[in-house]
Amino acid sequence: MKITTRTMAASKHVALVAHDNCKPELLRWVKENREKLQGHFLYATGTTGNMLNKETGLPIKSLISGPMGGDQQLGALISEGKIDVLIFFWDPLNAVPHDPDVKALLRIAGVWNIPVATNRATAKFLFSSEFMDKEVSIEIPDYQAYLAERL
Ligand code: PGA
Repeated sequence: MKITTRTMAASKHVALVAHDNCKPELLRWVKENREKLQGHFLYATGTTGNMLNKETGLPIKSLISGPMGGDQQLGALISEGKIDVLIFFWDPLNAVPHDPDVKALLRIAGVWNIPVATNRATAKFLFSSEFMDKEVSIEIPDYQAYLAERL
């Protein structure tokens, strides 16, 4: 696969998702990182986003609830280069009905090479990075080349 780059602005588009058992952990992390998060554009799946907005007052673009299609909406935004960072506290101890969507979201985040944190420790490392607050270039698949090879 040929690669190209895309530039992320200093203010990132950050997606926040937590499965039900992990929502308290995500809320705690958001409260701890409130100041840093205020400099970015926030997105979330439906229940996560509405809960975070209610508890913190932060402006968050809430998509549809995960099991109802929200993970797939996020995946589509990632494919379009509209999400820069994914914080996804998925539940490693309980099955969810939309497991295929969870896998698909993680897969598409891998395809488009965006930074993903799946637990508090990784989120801490990620948000300690200098790249969170400055313009940064990431490698992504060269879609035009991908297409040209197939036509
Ligand atoms: P929710 O979805 O924010 O609507 O709970 C999260 C998920 O399960 O992906």
